Amino acid sequence: MVKRCITILGATGSIGLSTLDVIRRHPDRFSVHALAANTRADELALLCREFQPRVAVMADPESAGRLAELLADCPDIRILSGEQGLCTVAAAPEADTVMAAIVGAAGLRPTLAAVGQGKRVLLANKEALVMSGRLFMDAVAESGAELLPIDSEHNAIFQCMPADKIRNPVAAGITRILLTASGGPFREHTAECLRTVTPAEACAHPNWSMGQKISVDSATLMNKGLELIEACWLFNTTPASIEVHVHPESIIHSMVEYADGSVLAQLGSPDMRTPIANGLAWPERVSAGVAPLDLFAIGRFHFERPDLIRFPCLRLAAEAFDAGGTAPAVLNAANEVAVAAFLNGDLCFADIPVIIERTLAITSVEPADSFEIIFAKDAEARERAREQIGLLSV
Ligand code: NDP
Repeated sequence: MVKRCITILGATGSIGLSTLDVIRRHPDRFSVHALAANTRADELALLCREFQPRVAVMADPESAGRLAELLADCPDIRILSGEQGLCTVAAAPEADTVMAAIVGAAGLRPTLAAVGQGKRVLLANKEALVMSGRLFMDAVAESGAELLPIDSEHNAIFQCMPADKIRNPVAAGITRILLTASGGPFREHTAECLRTVTPAEACAHPNWSMGQKISVDSATLMNKGLELIEACWLFNTTPASIEVHVHPESIIHSMVEYADGSVLAQLGSPDMRTPIANGLAWPERVSAGVAPLDLFAIGRFHFERPDLIRFPCLRLAAEAFDAGGTAPAVLNAANEVAVAAFLNGDLCFADIPVIIERTLAITSVEPADSFEIIFAKDAEARERAREQIGLLSV
């Protein structure tokens, strides 16, 4: 048994807290080197008191000052701030494993810092991989980092594949990946009803308890679009080999079809502690505190095709992947801006895909030759998406 030392980026979030819950159950196997968050200093202070990391980071400098006050009686915990602080802890040699669970594009640089040091990187922050695809995977290959998927679907696919052929599905005899989707809270809403749904309704996911941004992404099906792109990069495949199956029970987390007709699936209660425990302990298994699956209580499984007319985000994501270059970074940036505007009450739910599609249409696609180009396109797309939101409200 290897004792692992973990840094958690996004420690105060839904994934961060689930990760700490698994760690809490196994003090003999896991210790914490650093905890990082953005603004929620009070929450991070409590976590620091319990887990006693060597370093704590608040991306927001003012919040770092507040954390320092809150932990004034803990001189052994060093406090850092800003993106530089995040990258410092992500790369620190003391930790062998980094949970990348910052939400959105803000996670890319710190995740890359961990990848660059060849660590075990537990990837929850799908936006980082969506934005920078090939560059990200090249960085993984170059450093020898061990990239393990935490998204429940990708973790399921990973578990259904031979470990030595994760990046070579054809050689493994894999013919198709069946990516499951819950369909979100508005699966049965008419297009008309989608114009009036509120942020609170969008964040009330029927099966999963998650942060606000991914909850809205689940409701628009952009989460599935981002996951489609994520799967293409992780498993070295294309959207044509991936079929999204809406499975409202969220018990089958995804499936892999083989040439002989076998379909392997990974099942479990909808609880992120399962894929997190899988990543933390891999290739061993540890208990995750998850309720055993009661198939008698569930009774039946259902499957539907996604409706790309009411939920165009999945189509937009597949098109952005096919367009290549900087298009996925533009898709991601426009989505982040549109979701933030929706959560803020400045955009109606049904206009989220409108903003993304318009932003994609007016932002040129460049070859994604460097991370600088990715970050520049991300900034440009954000500006354009904000302009489009302004035009809609005129
Ligand atoms: P949350 O919103 O719950 O948490 C986000 C975390 O990121 C918080 O700790 C937050 O800190 C931190 N954060 C936000 N912005 C910054 C920033 N600029 N710099 C540093 N830290 C920042 O999100 P989730 O936990 O739901 O999701 C995290 C990631 O995992 C996302 O990429 C999501 O797509 C992915 N994921 C989530 C799943 C889930 O079940 N929740 C499932 C699969 C993937 P603070 O609290 O201080 O704001």
